[in-house]
Amino acid sequence: MTPLYEGKSKRLWATENPQTLRMEFKNDATAFNGEKKESFENKGRFNNAISTLIYGLLEKEGVPTHFVRQIDDTNVEVKKVEILMVEVIVRNVAAGSYCKRTGTAEGREFSQPIVEFSYKDDALGDPLINDDYIREMGLATPQDLVFLRQSALKVNSILTAFFAQCGLKLVDFKLEFGRLAEDPSVIVLADEISPDGCRLWDLKTGEKMDKDRFRRGLGNFMEAYEEVLGRVQKNLA
Ligand code: C5P
Repeated sequence: MTPLYEGKSKRLWATENPQTLRMEFKNDATAFNGEKKESFENKGRFNNAISTLIYGLLEKEGVPTHFVRQIDDTNVEVKKVEILMVEVIVRNVAAGSYCKRTGTAEGREFSQPIVEFSYKDDALGDPLINDDYIREMGLATPQDLVFLRQSALKVNSILTAFFAQCGLKLVDFKLEFGRLAEDPSVIVLADEISPDGCRLWDLKTGEKMDKDRFRRGLGNFMEAYEEVLGRVQKNLA
């Protein structure tokens, strides 16, 4: 069997249902657009468990997503979607590429969340784009963009409050959306929500509890993911 699609940290497989796919979480971690790559035992399991719980929370709060059900430790069933080639990033605190781009010191709190878009294209390094680029490139309509921005801010409100309960600051995160195969007029949240695509800092110590531990070689990478999973489980019990 060959997957329908293989990405840096996940594989997509066909199921018996033509409207759904099986999404498999791999143990691979990559950074700097795939330049740094390593495999970590349990990474797929931790991300699947975290993402499944977060998707459950978002669905309960009225955010439509691709999530159908967890199959096992490393697999979920998801609705088939056509992924929009626009990544939506929300930032509450300055970090990462925002600091690089603007010279701002890491850790500056924003007065309001920043929503930004990037073009999902590895060969180009996922460059930052704006509403006008997205319209002219045909990546999404202006109405779609209004929806993406509103949805991303809603997800930010829900997750900022939830992670605060877990003793974690939601610094920033990336979302992907897709059009349902069975009804392309409907856009839902897709991909995963895990410490691979979110920056999470411990509220007491400021310690980084996300993929920056791998990017920066800080050590205790999987220990941080396991700690995040434990806190998410405890607070959703
Ligand atoms: O690197 P940057 O600061 O732009 O990343 C912002 C947030 O989006 C981070 O939480 C990062 O993990 C996430 N991200 C991602 N995939 C990308 C780009 C960013 O998950 N391709």
